Parts: sequence; C-alpha cells; structure tokens
Amino acid sequence: MSVNYAAGLSDYPHKGKCGLPEIFDSPEQLDEKTKEFIRIFREARHVVVHTGAGVSTAAGIPDFRGPKGVWTLEEKGMSPHMNTTFDDASPSLTHMALVRLVEENLIQYIVSQNVDGLHIKSGIPRSKISELHGNMFLEKCDRCGTEYIRQNAVGTVGLKRTGRVCERKRIRGHCRGRLRDTILDWEDTLPYEDLASAENHSREADLAICLGTSLQIQPSGNLPVLTVKSGGKLVIVNLQKTRHVSTFTLYEYSMISKPVL
Ligand SMILES: [Zn+2]
Repeated sequence: MSVNYAAGLSDYPHKGKCGLPEIFDSPEQLDEKTKEFIRIFREARHVVVHTGAGVSTAAGIPDFRGPKGVWTLEEKGMSPHMNTTFDDASPSLTHMALVRLVEENLIQYIVSQNVDGLHIKSGIPRSKISELHGNMFLEKCDRCGTEYIRQNAVGTVGLKRTGRVCERKRIRGHCRGRLRDTILDWEDTLPYEDLASAENHSREADLAICLGTSLQIQPSGNLPVLTVKSGGKLVIVNLQKTRHVSTFTLYEYSMISKPVL
C-alpha cells in the first residue's frame, strides 16, 4: 500500500515532524465548531479543499506522519499495518461527501497530495482536481501529454517508463510515445498544469479547507496560504497540529475522529 509506494521512493532525510500527538475535541467543542464551520462554508463563494493522507486512512491506507504513519514507524525501524492494496481500496465517506459537494457546486476545486487515486475513483472529474504528487493509476505520454487512467495501479513510481505506449490517433497512425507513471520522487518538480491550476484556484478562493494533511510538504503545504493572502479564510481539519497553526489567522478544527468529514 502506502508502504509499497514509500519503498519505491529514494532515501530522503527531511520527512518533517512525525508522530505528533493527536488532539480530539469534546462533543460540546465539536458541536460549537461545526456550527461555526457551517456558517463560514455557507458564506463562501469559491471553496478549495486540500486533502492529505488523513482522508484515506478510513479506506485502510496508512498515513505518513500520524502515530502509526509510514514515516513515524520508519523512524522506529517498524512497518505500518496495511488493511488493503491500492487496487482494492475504495473511497471513504470523506471522498464521497466531497464528490457530492463538487456536484452541487458548493466546492469548486480539490487539491490533493495523495497518490492513491481515490478522488478520481470516487467520481471527481479530472478537470476539478490537481493531484500534485501523482496518481498510482495514471500514466502519461511523454510525447503528447495524453493521460490514461487505468483500472489497476500502473506498477512503477518515480516518473519511470511503464512499458506501454500512447495509442492516441494522429493523422497517420498513432502517437506511440512512451508512457510514464506520474508518481513524484522526493524533490521532483511538481506537474506544471496541476500546480498552476491549484495556485490559480487558491488565489481565487475565499475559503480553503485542509483535510487530513500536516501541510509539511512544500509547495503543496503553502498553497492554502495563497487564499489567506488574498483575504480568504483557512479552515484546517486535522488531528495533529499543523505547521500553519500559529502563523496565520485561521480556524483550526481538530474536530473529527473517523471518518474525517
Ligand atoms: Zn502520445
């Protein structure tokens, strides 16, 4: 699962703070914060949701920096427990709630750091999401840029050739360009179109909602700040404190146990 993905990445020493304690609100706090959040959400005109590994733990995929996360356990010389595989994982209630809110045009855009492909599997249109770190089910032609979403994980990570070729029709024959996976390794450059679209929506948004991300990986973790700098609000729903907690005017809700939304 995430472990196979993680094992395919290069060694990298700067994985951020791992294993911070999780904080749970009391039922009274939760009720109060939920009411406040609904008020903010109803007032918003352009909403961007940023998702991290925390939205997929309910689907059986371990996160990275939680108490039982991949990198947290790696520091202790241990491996996480997996309940599923990328191919078998199903979208969680959080993913399905987001699909409905996008369909109702109450959420305008999703920016995800997850590579598990569950947002696309759940029905989010490709035009409504930036997958900044890639998608295990997506391969892309390195000649014409055509994307192919597969039923099964494409099998490689690190922008490597998958062994398949592009079938896009041209005036004569097919493109036949080489296909590559879309999974970034540490310090790889983010996909240009996805990043540009995420930045544009973040600047236009008057509300950024962060779900299940510690916001430690850059530049993804700083995109919600673009919304704040444009005068918008930032809502963080995460069980651990994030790196932006004391830096910006925001509402931080550690309000959800499981699932995340
Ligand atoms: Zn092609």
